[in-house]
Amino acid sequence: MSTLNQLNAAQESQGPSTVYGPVNSWRVGLSLGIDLLYVNSICSFRCVYCQLGKINVHTSKRQIFVPTERVMRDLRASEWEAADIISLSGNGEPTLAANIGEVMRQAKELTRKPLLVLTNSAHLDQPEVRRDILTADKIFCKLDAIDEETFRWMDRPCEGITVEGIIAGISALRLEYDGYLAIQTMLTRINRHRLGAFSEVLKRIRPDEVQLNLPSRPIPTQWAIENRGGSRGGGTRLLKPPSKDEVLEMQEELARKTGLRVVSRYRQ
Ligand code: SF4
Repeated sequence: MSTLNQLNAAQESQGPSTVYGPVNSWRVGLSLGIDLLYVNSICSFRCVYCQLGKINVHTSKRQIFVPTERVMRDLRASEWEAADIISLSGNGEPTLAANIGEVMRQAKELTRKPLLVLTNSAHLDQPEVRRDILTADKIFCKLDAIDEETFRWMDRPCEGITVEGIIAGISALRLEYDGYLAIQTMLTRINRHRLGAFSEVLKRIRPDEVQLNLPSRPIPTQWAIENRGGSRGGGTRLLKPPSKDEVLEMQEELARKTGLRVVSRYRQ
């Protein structure tokens, strides 16, 4: 039995739920999380600011980590009726879960709530990944940097993942997807000097919204399942977030250069 299967079997019998929250989010209100990774922290990135603490399984390989029946059982037992939206997120990159499309279809059928996918965009250049998430009402795509050097330093991707592939994947999704597509960027002082080039990429993608996030929360020193949905404090901060004035300045400049809706926690 593989380590993932052992963990899955152990947690199947007594572990916490694959559904968590609802938690309050400044972007979408009360959000109920579905965690399709669950058995560990699993992602194709290891972002320097990741609030999961540590990505234990760094992989690009898609597979089923938790059976759909288990997720649906947890969803039925959760407080889904209180949520504004149901988010596919959790302990890593949700599009790595090969049953994401199936879970989304069944979750929609049960709840009739809007569905949100939060993705690191690394796999959107694969047509089957895009097809799997087309039923989402909203998709938030991470794009932290548009040059390889900054991208590699900040997001620490698995081998073979490039900025070029990510931009191509998001652009292809934009053409195929009729729902609400937002770009999420972790704003650091580094981005400040590249706003012109970043604006050009955004204008080509044409998202409905650009969300500026800040690396303001401490990063736990270790992974724990409770870290999904926001860390519980402790740990350290590796990146110094820009000040409120700097954020507002960059927000205005990006909005002016792109003509797009640009939001941050300071101005929405
Ligand atoms: S993409 Fe998300 S889950 Fe993956 S390492 Fe980055 S912040 Fe963490």
